[in-house]
Amino acid sequence: MPIRVAIIGSGPAGFYTAKALLRACRTCEIDVIERLPTPYGLIRGGVAPDHQTTKRVAKKFEKTALVEEVNYYGNVEINRHVGLAELRDLYDAVVLAVGAPGDRKLTIPGADKYGVFGSAAFVGWYNGHPDFRDLDPSLNSEVAVVVGNGNVALDCARILLRTRQGMAGTDLPMHVQGAIAASPIVDVYILGRRGPAEASFTNVELRELSQLTKAEPRVRKDHLPDDSEAALAAYVARERRVRERNLKTLAEFASLEPDTKPKRLHLEFFTSPVEVLGDERVEGLRCERTQLIDGRAQGTGEFFEISCGLVISAIGYRTELFAGAPYDEKRNIIPNDKGRVEPGLYAAGWIKRGPSGVISSNRPDGEIVACYIRDDIPVDGDPTKPGRVGLEKLLRERRHRWVTFGDWQRLDALEEAAADYQAPRQKFVTVEEMLEALDSEEGSKQK
Ligand code: NAP
Repeated sequence: MPIRVAIIGSGPAGFYTAKALLRACRTCEIDVIERLPTPYGLIRGGVAPDHQTTKRVAKKFEKTALVEEVNYYGNVEINRHVGLAELRDLYDAVVLAVGAPGDRKLTIPGADKYGVFGSAAFVGWYNGHPDFRDLDPSLNSEVAVVVGNGNVALDCARILLRTRQGMAGTDLPMHVQGAIAASPIVDVYILGRRGPAEASFTNVELRELSQLTKAEPRVRKDHLPDDSEAALAAYVARERRVRERNLKTLAEFASLEPDTKPKRLHLEFFTSPVEVLGDERVEGLRCERTQLIDGRAQGTGEFFEISCGLVISAIGYRTELFAGAPYDEKRNIIPNDKGRVEPGLYAAGWIKRGPSGVISSNRPDGEIVACYIRDDIPVDGDPTKPGRVGLEKLLRERRHRWVTFGDWQRLDALEEAAADYQAPRQKFVTVEEMLEALDSEEGSKQK
């Protein structure tokens, strides 16, 4: 008998766990369960559409999905179509790899006005995530502000400043390309509440801003530290090297000849938003100039306003309570010991350690969880746990249509076939159209 494992979530944390389990366990049966019909989590719905090389990691996950021991159950939402407790009864081990789908909230007055969007929603919208198909962000002003100094803030700002041609090799959905191309936005501000040395950008992503064809990066010389050594004193090793390079890049931006391109991307440091202005819609953002005291941003009492019609809050993601599993409200993660929540229940990725790191940071999470499962569960599993046979029986009884990996491959092929000549794919952006496309094809069968 194999060990039967259900992994909830088909993003990097889910697939790295599946791959590690195949290596760690003598025999296992792994079912990757996903709320959407489409797999790969943030690879499809988070990684920027103009970063297609990053998305290629999905090919590795595909290899894992095609291994005989692995099954994919898309369009299955846990606690809606099947309960977490039911799943734990069916499987020897359940791994939660559901990421951090929510936004850390911008909690300033006026943040609920129309025209303020969290990055989870905005990134989801431009990536064609079905949850955000109808977001309709207001791109009808000349100025947009992105709050936050991480890579997601850079992604949002860069996408807003893409030209038609700059979008051609991406998988931005057509309605998104249309909205961006028609937008009058010419100035995008990225606000950092601390200084340039404290920004969480990575080098390649920051440097990329100088390659935008119609927009130039702008940095104020007086925001750069006079003494880089002192500004970087708190950082060591890799973290210090990244920030050192960032400072160099920002100094290059600060010395660029201005007005060579028609649009501008202002990297505005020492700026904390304090109020969103306007009646029902955003008309501006009131900000306070800050200074660094003991590494923290402190208001100086100097206020100024930026007139704008769009505010994107890219200040980090948030994990959410997963019904039936414990949750640490203070740390915003599922309480766990290196991925083990309790014997039989495990966690990997952002729900385990919070929303930070790059795609490959999830690999060790998967490897550790696989070792725990191997050590916690008898080598032949529990004979009373039916695993996927039980899951399929439940779903059939509930007349719920799940999406197999074979189904996804057909959707994938249809998306690629629908793409314009330079684009990698034209995405389906609603669950209904995905299911209709599958149903309208003959020979749909469960793997
Ligand atoms: P992040 O890197 O944690 O950055 C969040 C930013 O928000 C920080 O600059 C933080 O400033 C700021 N912030 C937090 N609360 C704030 C507030 N109340 N007011 C103003 N600013 C506030 O998060 P992220 O950008 O969402 O990225 C998440 C993870 O995904 C990161 O590890 C990132 O590197 C990764 N990612 C990587 C790529 C890539 O490799 N291309 C692309 C996208 C995302 P403080 O530092 O002052 O707290």
